[in-house]
Amino acid sequence: MTITRDDVINWLNEYGRVIAENKDYLTQLDSAIGDADHGANMDRGFKAALFKLPTVADKDIGTLLKSVGMTLVQTVGGAGGPLYGTFFMQAGTTTANKMELTTADWSAALEAALNGVVARGKAQLNDKTMVDALTPALNALKQAVADGVDQNEALRRSAAAAEQGMKDTIPLVARKGRASYLGERSAGHQDPGATSSYLLIKAAADMWAK
Ligand code: ADP
Ligand code: MG
Repeated sequence: MTITRDDVINWLNEYGRVIAENKDYLTQLDSAIGDADHGANMDRGFKAALFKLPTVADKDIGTLLKSVGMTLVQTVGGAGGPLYGTFFMQAGTTTANKMELTTADWSAALEAALNGVVARGKAQLNDKTMVDALTPALNALKQAVADGVDQNEALRRSAAAAEQGMKDTIPLVARKGRASYLGERSAGHQDPGATSSYLLIKAAADMWAK
């Protein structure tokens, strides 16, 4: 079973819908440990990215993802925009010229995307960032590919691991981004970027598990 270009487009559209639906929730999380703009940032960025998507919808998956990444970098300020921009641009580089993806291709794209986020933001695991949701999501996906489980199961395991990683940010003290200015007071709150990253991985599982 493969992930087609239409599947990728459906995922991006679904994520835009989910971000709009969770805009206030993400902003509420960011108001506790940041500057209350994560929901608005992601919503503005994805609305712009999805507005541009039809102009590249007949191209390969890599071109689609790179377009999303570039629009996010151009339209979203703060930390989140450039980091998600890097995520999609790196995923796009790995999937250049592909019209469909195997589960292993998706795993490689997610790995490049996460590596890009880490290279740019320098966050380590347990710094209370989006990396804390994306890393377990990737590890679960890689393990599922190695175990040879079917695509549905691999995607579900990845989403479940991202959800756990997101929840595990609650007790952590932030060491990167605005939340780190709060020091110990950042503990006890779920990280907004880890939350939007979980929603991204969950949207993939929701749209691609057949
Ligand atoms: P800003 O912090 O500039 O207001 P956002 O509110 O859009 O940007 O995004 C905040 C999220 O960005 C945080 O919850 C965290 O997950 C993520 N983040 C911040 N700095 C980093 C970093 N250096 N590396 C990875 N993720 C980061
Ligand atoms: Mg913010």
